[in-house]
Amino acid sequence: MDDDQRGGRVLLVDDDAMIRMLASESLRHAGFAVSEADCGEQAVRLFDAQEFDLIVLDVMMPGVDGYQVSRRIRQHERGQWLPILMLTGLNDGESIELAYRSGATDFINKPVNWLLLTQRVRYGMRSGQAIQAVQHSQQRLAHAQRLARMGSWEWSVAEARFACSDEMLRLFGGDWQLAGAATLDGFLASVRESDRALVASARRALLIDGQPYQITYGMQRPDGKLREVYEQAQAVRDTAGRIVRVEGITQDISERIEAQQRIEHLSMHDGLTGLANRQLFAQVAAVELERARRNHGSCAIVHLDIDHFKSVNDALGNAAGDQVLCTLAERLRSSVRGADLLALNPSMRAAETVARIDGDAFTVLVLEVRAAGDAAIIAERLLQTIARPLSIDDREVVLTASIGIAVFPRDADSVEALARAAEQALYAARASGPATYRFFDEEMNAAARVKLHLENELRRAIAQDELRLHFQPKVDAASGRLSGAEALVRWQHPRRGLLGPGEFIPLAEEAGLIVALGDWVLAAAARQLRQWAEAGLAPVRVSINLASPSFLEEQVAEKCSAIIAQEGIAPEQVVLELTESLLVVDAERTIVRLNSLREKGFALSLDDFGTGFSSLSYLKRFPLDELKIDRAFVTDVTRGGKDAAIALSIIELGHQFGMRVVAEGVETRAQADFLLANRCPIQQGFLFSPPLPPDRFAAILGSDGGLAFPDGPP
Ligand code: C2E
Ligand code: CA
Ligand code: CA
Repeated sequence: MDDDQRGGRVLLVDDDAMIRMLASESLRHAGFAVSEADCGEQAVRLFDAQEFDLIVLDVMMPGVDGYQVSRRIRQHERGQWLPILMLTGLNDGESIELAYRSGATDFINKPVNWLLLTQRVRYGMRSGQAIQAVQHSQQRLAHAQRLARMGSWEWSVAEARFACSDEMLRLFGGDWQLAGAATLDGFLASVRESDRALVASARRALLIDGQPYQITYGMQRPDGKLREVYEQAQAVRDTAGRIVRVEGITQDISERIEAQQRIEHLSMHDGLTGLANRQLFAQVAAVELERARRNHGSCAIVHLDIDHFKSVNDALGNAAGDQVLCTLAERLRSSVRGADLLALNPSMRAAETVARIDGDAFTVLVLEVRAAGDAAIIAERLLQTIARPLSIDDREVVLTASIGIAVFPRDADSVEALARAAEQALYAARASGPATYRFFDEEMNAAARVKLHLENELRRAIAQDELRLHFQPKVDAASGRLSGAEALVRWQHPRRGLLGPGEFIPLAEEAGLIVALGDWVLAAAARQLRQWAEAGLAPVRVSINLASPSFLEEQVAEKCSAIIAQEGIAPEQVVLELTESLLVVDAERTIVRLNSLREKGFALSLDDFGTGFSSLSYLKRFPLDELKIDRAFVTDVTRGGKDAAIALSIIELGHQFGMRVVAEGVETRAQADFLLANRCPIQQGFLFSPPLPPDRFAAILGSDGGLAFPDGPP
């Protein structure tokens, strides 16, 4: 870029060659780049072809005169803001007036003072640039506002005038009665009624105290559409501190709010049926319970579970099962909606009172229960609704449901407790047959209380070492020698005495305490093994029952070996007994877990084998060391028949796969002999010994593994 161009580009238009020469001479001297045109036509041509920063334009020219040139330039987008300096006759008032009207920015009299000309050109150019800069930034601002769906506005206090950006008009209606909108009352008319007080007080505080605000509210556009807006405004004061105007921005956030609502809806509703989910149900129920509490009213939770739904999935496939659930959900929804509830409550509330909280479990919040009978009527209706035949894939299906009902405040006084009570009632309903409903009652209450109490006690028992391990010998029936032991847990209850696992293992499973209990057992067994070793007793292999939740824990192998390592016990001294059900679920992952336990050195035993009895051939895929024939088959083993056949094929299978086979629950000599004769020497049962407390088991270890049998060695 050379010096000429840095000064700016001037188009000089005059039919007088002398004036052109003198003018261009002084302009070039002042640093401008000058192009010359000797008539209006040429001026327009040059303007079309090139960019200029300013035009010096003679008014009087033959043909197209200066006024016309100016007007044409102004019609162009590009020429809208181009500074035009007109050369007019001396003190010719009329031509000056005409010059301005045709779009001139400035004028200079002829004859021209050349020094004055260059100054005027320089000034004109600078203001042209300034205007352009403002233009640009306004365009950018408008663009930004459009993107943000944001309008800006101001209210001038002195002039009582409202002005706003184009985007503001676009967003909130071009036909706005701006005069109306400009007054607070006029504007408020378009604000959503529930937001009016908020907007009015915010604006008042702004105008009177100059307090800025940021609010969101709903407003109705002239076309009737309701928009959610965010508005931020502040006051501008003069030097004396008076508020002269307020300025603000208003943003249309409807889409954002809608997206938010969609997300909220998704997270609060069940994806399959569209019903409320557990979370939403809990929220709605909490509000309604509170309302009922205040009004001394009553409401009920109806817990509904489809009977034998699993068999629908099994028979028809999961897709059909989903379809069934959707149909049932719709029926529940409409039978609750159609209920008298709707008359009592706004539709929103009634619609949200049916929820799907689990696979085939639904809950209904019944409001305004005046007597237990109200809830019973609804329960009856729901049962009938479910029992109506359904057709899925051209097959007719008839389902039933069981229902448990708990009433607030009679049965419980929090949502959680009420839901639990309804679930209790559901269990009772299920137990008394299909298609039944039951109310929660005192008896269930008592049972639930006892259970809760036991749960807490069990928690304490695990923490405070009230649990005990007993050890039952595994014996080699051929030699009569000890071949191992199974650790079996007991609970030394402070009041109730020694409890067997049957009395607390199911509870531990239900209460989520089974993993903690299992950890305790493993640690206690390892501690016992260490103590026996320290006492110089012969080492013995101990079997531990590993419950499914423990087995399914992440890193179960690392965890188990870490627990026993604390007592310095190696995995080689431990057999883990697992249940058959684990093999059926997700075999691939089970195999990975089994392998990882084995790699640590644990031996693996399949407990109660044969009860599932679905997967004999399957068995060889699993890396197992031992099979335990369930007691059920041992009991009748000497009578021949089916049980004996099963026991024998388990033994056969075990040998084929290279697994050790253990018979458990051996109570008679006949059983022991039969099993021994059929190549199953390792046995466990009352015939040899019941589970023993550690000191008595130690006595056997001390006697070098020889057991005292009731009738001498078999
Ligand atoms: P299981 O693993 O099948 O354990 C064998 C059960 O049969 C023991 O009952 C044992 O006392 C009993 N039993 C042994 N020999 C005979 C016999 O000749 N005749 C009869 N009728 N029964 C015999 P227990 O100790 O009451 O344990 C019951 C169940 O509780 C166990 O069955 C096991 O599934 C579970 N269990 C016991 N201890 C634990 C443990 O530490 N953790 C886990 N997760 N479960 C355990
Ligand atoms: Ca066992
Ligand atoms: Ca067993």
